[in-house]
Amino acid sequence: MTSPLVFQMAEGNLQTEFGKFKVTIYNDGQVEATVLQTLELNNTRPVHLRIQSTCITGHYFNSTECSCKEDSDSFQNYISVNGNGLLILLNQEGRANGNVAHISSQKLKEDGATQDEAYLRLGFPKDSRDYSIVTKILANLGVKQCLLHSKNERKLSTLRKSDISFSTFKGK
Ligand SMILES: [Zn+2]
Repeated sequence: MTSPLVFQMAEGNLQTEFGKFKVTIYNDGQVEATVLQTLELNNTRPVHLRIQSTCITGHYFNSTECSCKEDSDSFQNYISVNGNGLLILLNQEGRANGNVAHISSQKLKEDGATQDEAYLRLGFPKDSRDYSIVTKILANLGVKQCLLHSKNERKLSTLRKSDISFSTFKGK
């Protein structure tokens, strides 16, 4: 299935430790995103949404600097139990500054810099992440309202520039 803005490249089901999900690969001609969703989506109700950027250090190396893996796992568990949810994984390592920037920032952080300061000192923006494919994917799926599982205000304000309604999910 395609929409003018984004293409579904492949889809299949995946059993995880939290339940069975559908996984779809999307491409908008510039970037690819992977979506994990509950087998049923009911667009007459708000859809639970988590936008996750790839994080090698968190997801594979169990870094204690961020909660990416923990947040992703608890969201999968939540939608497996409550239904009507999707997790959109974007290929944006190191706040989309890349792994070289991320790993280079470690030394500065050991010396007391925050992540923001470390990226700026290395000549990168504090945050280069782009969420434009997210609203294209949601439109493709026919989603009208989302409950965003995130505390990131920048993410929310970027998403609100679309026709889809977003509110922050509060509590479980
Ligand atoms: Zn992380």
